[in-house]
Amino acid sequence: MPLLEAADVSKIFGKLTALDSARLEVGENEFHGLIGPNGSGKSTLMKCIAGAEIPTRGTVTFLGRDVTAFRPNQRARAGISLKFQITSVLPALTLYDNILLSMQAQSSLSNLMFSRSRMRLHDRVMGMLTEFRLAERAFDPAGALSHGQQQWLEIAMALASDPKLLLLDEPTGGMSLEERRVTGELLQTIKKRCSLIIVEHDLDFIRDFCDRLTVLDQGKVLASGTVAEIQADKKVQEIYLRRV
Ligand code: ADP
Ligand code: MG
Repeated sequence: MPLLEAADVSKIFGKLTALDSARLEVGENEFHGLIGPNGSGKSTLMKCIAGAEIPTRGTVTFLGRDVTAFRPNQRARAGISLKFQITSVLPALTLYDNILLSMQAQSSLSNLMFSRSRMRLHDRVMGMLTEFRLAERAFDPAGALSHGQQQWLEIAMALASDPKLLLLDEPTGGMSLEERRVTGELLQTIKKRCSLIIVEHDLDFIRDFCDRLTVLDQGKVLASGTVAEIQADKKVQEIYLRRV
């Protein structure tokens, strides 16, 4: 049984078909890249999976449960975590408090009250910041971070709830080359923790850590397979050539 299955998912906005019977399967601990030209429906599919949009048709199944009608917070509790293109960092708060808040937002109050001790929560926050190379900045306001560091903070926040599936929509947008390189390394290190669906336009960047890729074109799945299969796919080469 796949961890996530989006079957026959269509999303229609007025007269526009943003997604047309799209299908996506992601297994346990699989890193899955979602690629395709601008406007091909990548963000819409991510939102249908996260619950920010409800598909017009089709179903989303997570851990064997039909979650199509679940609200985003219900999906988060089931183990799906989305980092949006738009920032969710609170810039006036410290990095530490941002992480703490996202841990608290995801667990019930009683869980926090009964968690062994405040110390354990502190260790978790600092562990997360260390993993994302932000420990030295723990008590700086998040607004003082570079763009790339803010993105890493957001990924750390999305992971704070220990999701089974992390959704990242173009996390390297606006990053410098060096920041992109580090992001690749950070994503490698979280590989043992969860599954990932990542939207990214640079095939070179994601092929190093993605197990499989799905290519969308005009709302339809053009191809899905291993990185090698996708790179050898004639239809895929065509849409990428058409773009340049
Ligand atoms: P991608 O992320 O691949 O660039 P999107 O999923 O954002 O593509 O968009 C797919 C298509 O759906 C685009 O034509 C876009 O303009 C349209 N679209 C996305 N969201 C909405 C919305 N809320 N209302 C109307 N049209 C939308
Ligand atoms: Mg998009």
